[in-house]
Amino acid sequence: MTLEVVRTRAGIREALGAAPGLVPTMGALHAGHDALIRRSVAENERTVVSIFVNPTQFTDRADLAAYPRAFDDDLAVVAAAGADLVFAPTAEEMYPPGFATTIDVDALSRRWEGASRPGHFRGVATVVAILLSLIRPARAYFGEKDYQQLQIVKRLHADLALPGVIVDCPTVRDPDGLALSSRNARLAPAERKAAAALPQALMLMAGLARNGVRDAARLERAGRAALAEAPRIEIDYLAVVDGATLEPTATIASGSRVLGAVRLGGVRLIDNIALPAPDSPA
Ligand code: AMP
Repeated sequence: MTLEVVRTRAGIREALGAAPGLVPTMGALHAGHDALIRRSVAENERTVVSIFVNPTQFTDRADLAAYPRAFDDDLAVVAAAGADLVFAPTAEEMYPPGFATTIDVDALSRRWEGASRPGHFRGVATVVAILLSLIRPARAYFGEKDYQQLQIVKRLHADLALPGVIVDCPTVRDPDGLALSSRNARLAPAERKAAAALPQALMLMAGLARNGVRDAARLERAGRAALAEAPRIEIDYLAVVDGATLEPTATIASGSRVLGAVRLGGVRLIDNIALPAPDSPA
């Protein structure tokens, strides 16, 4: 028998053999989660869905308490999608007495959701690192809906040499454009109607970029003006950023993205859209 020596990160992962697909969620599963689970089922021998309302990523106790929980319905969604295993730990199981390690993905966590919800991404990065270490998936599926989270997960996954690959999945939307979110259930009917203004503002900005507007400030003004017309919406941020660093950009370039967050009554909604590069075909 020859002893195999592996010298690359990719090589050692491959040598470790078969591993499942993983879809980390906080439950209250909707068609967005369903799409991630079905993709994992299609691409992996086995799929694990984690359902864990991670307390450390909530900066507001009331938000944690109000977060929807629907475990029995979730099990039906997971089973119908064809996944094999649900990992549903308690908070004590995830964070046993003496737990002391946290992960900060500094630069990427500072702005946007990180500024509005201090500590949020420390909670996200830490729980994702635990899940990836524990389950050692071949592929872990994350939604573009949470774009900043996705970039942070990709960074920590690369930096800590965590197993598998991170697969990004497109945002699933309702017919009026609103990105599906477990929080949408908390919108009153009039708020739900007004909420479509967020994706519409993003699409307006992408349309302007497609038509040659390259000045980020001009795009942001147009998006803000569109949101100002919608009833009940308060803008938290609306910004044109570099899609990799998430730093604000003055001029649209390849990979530019708009990130937006609004408040509607007591509910906070986020969304984002890719901007076409200046020289891409219309
Ligand atoms: P959550 O349960 O909100 O923590 O979300 C679990 C995973 O589902 C995350 O990777 C999210 O980005 C993803 N996700 C949530 N909503 C959507 C959506 N509308 N479309 C696609 N992915 C989503």
